Amino acid sequence: MPTFSGSCHCGAITFAIDADDADRDLYRCNCSLCTKKAIIMKPVRREDFQLTGGEAALSSYKWNQQIAEHFFCSRCGVYTHHKRRSDPSQISVNFGCLDNAIIPPEHEVGLVDGAKLE
Ligand SMILES: [Zn+2]
Repeated sequence: MPTFSGSCHCGAITFAIDADDADRDLYRCNCSLCTKKAIIMKPVRREDFQLTGGEAALSSYKWNQQIAEHFFCSRCGVYTHHKRRSDPSQISVNFGCLDNAIIPPEHEVGLVDGAKLE
């Protein structure tokens, strides 16, 4: 399975995911947090995610039922990934943080109804 690397904006936090395609299964979420972040996410199995650098710069945020954990860079503020509440066996990464991330114009981005979980 190919490995795709990614990072926050300042480069302090780096990560890698194993996935068949980096630009498949992309989704947005309509919960109140994701609405404010306005990002596109790529889910992977937890074992297919590796934090490759920057653990000391990593901050996290929990809210509501404290199940999901949202990670971001304490230097540049960019959200990099989170442990999913709807499926704790998965990590979702910020698709925009993947190196050379470009969403093809014809690509479908699904919607996760996270607002229903609030
Ligand atoms: Zn950063």
